[in-house]
Amino acid sequence: MNKENTDRILGYKCIGCDEEYPVEPFQYQCPKCKSNLDVQYNYKLIREIWSVEDLKQFPYQSLWRYHPLLPVENPPDNLSMQSGGTPLISFPNLLTDIGKINLYIKDDTRNPSGSLKDRATEVGIRHADELGKDTIVAASTGNAAASLAALAAFYEKKAVILAPASAPPAKLTQILQYGAILYPVDGTYDDAFDLSILVAEANGWYSRSTGINPVLAEGKKTVGLEIAEQLNWQVPNKIFVPTGDGCIIAGIYKGFLDLVRLGWISKLPQLIAVQAEGSPAIVNALNSGKPMVPVQSNTIADSISVDQPRDAEKAIIAVQKTKGFGITVTDDEILVAQSRLARNTGVFAEPAAAASFAGFLKAMKRGTIHAGDSIVILASGTGLKDIPAAQEKIDIPKAQPATLEGFLTFYNENKKK
Ligand SMILES: *Cc1c(COP(=O)(O)O)cnc(C)c1O
Ligand SMILES: [Zn+2]
Repeated sequence: MNKENTDRILGYKCIGCDEEYPVEPFQYQCPKCKSNLDVQYNYKLIREIWSVEDLKQFPYQSLWRYHPLLPVENPPDNLSMQSGGTPLISFPNLLTDIGKINLYIKDDTRNPSGSLKDRATEVGIRHADELGKDTIVAASTGNAAASLAALAAFYEKKAVILAPASAPPAKLTQILQYGAILYPVDGTYDDAFDLSILVAEANGWYSRSTGINPVLAEGKKTVGLEIAEQLNWQVPNKIFVPTGDGCIIAGIYKGFLDLVRLGWISKLPQLIAVQAEGSPAIVNALNSGKPMVPVQSNTIADSISVDQPRDAEKAIIAVQKTKGFGITVTDDEILVAQSRLARNTGVFAEPAAAASFAGFLKAMKRGTIHAGDSIVILASGTGLKDIPAAQEKIDIPKAQPATLEGFLTFYNENKKK
């Protein structure tokens, strides 16, 4: 084992009471106050052992190119699965109602299981491996479960998923295809979450639960590191982030902070938390200046439908420290944005992921975007996972005669649209 690899990681710090803990024994949350923990690095050492030049030499586009900033000793042996390393699609000098802007779509629909969750799972599985754990458990109905099931299949780990029995069959299908053990809980998502903690403890399994595991946000931060590298260390003005529990936006903040601490960038982008109007707990807290109050969530954007965001505290800090803001969008605005995004950019995003584009369109109307700005929209998951939602704004045409005349009539009617 390379000593530099372990010395990079100093330990964990509680975001509630500031208490610090060593790397070992690994603990999910602060034993004193039950708040979430944040991984602490020795940036002075990292600056000595790693440079932009080293990064350029790294042969893989996978997120493991940022290994010196990740809380595991070594990358996996086999880097060919490529989680992360997704394209930053650019629309330079795009003419909009407010003038020209530089628009970028960070296309994380292109991860192995189709969502940004693969970044967290990669690092989580590697961490589990270094702790000598073979079985990993998660409570989820959606992308986190599919991601764990997929990457567990690749890394030869056992995935155990606890999901409410009422979850949509399409989502459960992806989990089962990858060969995970699915335990359908007769209860709500919160029941499944609480049970997953008990199950992990009772069996000594590793928990891939965003709400409690500090290692997962470190995986998610790699999307921020990539955006900075892809923009050649020119920080964008704003990044629109679809927000549920708040782990992604907190991770992106951490990623940019890491780069400031390394001296590779000198300022932070404004982080914009976009939530559904039917699931607005974090945006409510941002707008009121008061602590987060749980809501009864209800939105078509299931991946950001959360009653009680489990990383709210970190998410709120991320927005406030970067002088960003929170914005909510209606389900209709999300569905309209979903089809506009697909038509105008070629990126088919699921409703939660299209929420960031909807938030951008709304912010532009409100005058919070300015000519010359560079804007990144985070597309966090693929639309192929939720076809029924996408069909809300689509009419599949009925069968037409197999004649040239029939075709031309149809074509002339439809080309106007
Ligand atoms: C999980 C998820 C989100 C929200 O991430 P949080 O960390 O819960 O804020 C957004 N989009 C997609 C596609 C997701 O799967
Ligand atoms: Zn604490």
